[in-house]
Amino acid sequence: MSIRWRGLDVQVAAWLAEDENIALNAGDHTELMGMACRDFDRPVEPIVGRISSTKEVTMARCETCGNEYDKAFQLSMAGTMHTFDSFECAIQALAPTCEHCGCRILGHGVEAEGAMYCCAHCASQKGVAAARDRV
Ligand SMILES: [Zn+2]
Ligand SMILES: [Zn+2]
Repeated sequence: MSIRWRGLDVQVAAWLAEDENIALNAGDHTELMGMACRDFDRPVEPIVGRISSTKEVTMARCETCGNEYDKAFQLSMAGTMHTFDSFECAIQALAPTCEHCGCRILGHGVEAEGAMYCCAHCASQKGVAAARDRV
């Protein structure tokens, strides 16, 4: 016997069917019920198939160090997508460099006369008189 869920066949992703327990909507949008998968499978006889890839680990390669990492993330900068495994690698690739001291600019920095500085002091050392740290 197969139960139809409000007239629809029930489909279960293969990776979900491998779990020991299942939690599902219990008739309204406020209640959730949990049960063992085998207790769900017996009356419902869901169609099990490859219908979603939520649990499949997606590896992505960091464009700075080449590490393949499941927690890699993407940043969009000036219309280009970049992939990194850490903020350190993102900074290495994308953060501007102070025109005076050469450090990476991680905050807002100071932009003056077409150059980027980490702070007003560095800007003034390069002869930018009007630069002030905005605080
Ligand atoms: Zn990296
Ligand atoms: Zn500087």
